[in-house]
Amino acid sequence: MKTILFGGTFNPVHLGHLHVLHSIAFHTDYERVIILPASQPPHKAYRQVITDSQRLELLHLAVEDYHRLYPDDRALECIIDTCEIDRGGKSYMYDSVMDIHTRYEITGTLALAIGDDLFPTLKDWYRGDDLIQLLHFVVITRDQQNENRVFPNQLDGEFLEVAPVRCSSTSIRDQLKSTTGCLYSLKEQLSESVLDYIIDYGLYKND
Ligand code: ATP
Repeated sequence: MKTILFGGTFNPVHLGHLHVLHSIAFHTDYERVIILPASQPPHKAYRQVITDSQRLELLHLAVEDYHRLYPDDRALECIIDTCEIDRGGKSYMYDSVMDIHTRYEITGTLALAIGDDLFPTLKDWYRGDDLIQLLHFVVITRDQQNENRVFPNQLDGEFLEVAPVRCSSTSIRDQLKSTTGCLYSLKEQLSESVLDYIIDYGLYKND
């Protein structure tokens, strides 16, 4: 099956992430997305504010919300694979790619969906040179300022020119920490079931 990976911290998963799923469904012919929630992202400081099982529960709710929010998307199998959480420690994409190849049947070159904020850091990733040989890169617009881009020669991949959805987990956590009033202002950044769960369980309030 034509497969694309989508890694992240998803702390919490937000509408920008669901927009990535939609962009894959709309602009590519990948049949399966394997979502890889990180244990510890190697490239940024990470404090575990909610438990891994809460983070996973939110991801499952978000995938259900994705199918409701984009009912016209062609069928895209969305799998949440916990290999990085199960391995623990720093979550290196190279290790995950090796692992995924042993457990899934992949048609053609395995791909990686990545935001255009993270894409330029690729060369600094653990075994980045090997990843460049192993993967096809599907880069999603997060910052409209990066217009008219030329895809680097030595890499196999493409930019998906989609209208950016401006939200980030950091900003959402900050808002959840500081908001004393109506949390439903976050409706434009979080899908419905995810927001309800965060409110019901009082997540991120004591970040
Ligand atoms: P944080 O604010 O904590 O750094 P984040 O919002 O960047 O988190 P991650 O889970 O780290 O979320 O992101 C996972 C992947 O999703 C990365 O490739 C990132 O570039 C991409 N991504 C995150 N938000 C968006 C968005 N709004 N639009 C497109 N891609 C996004």
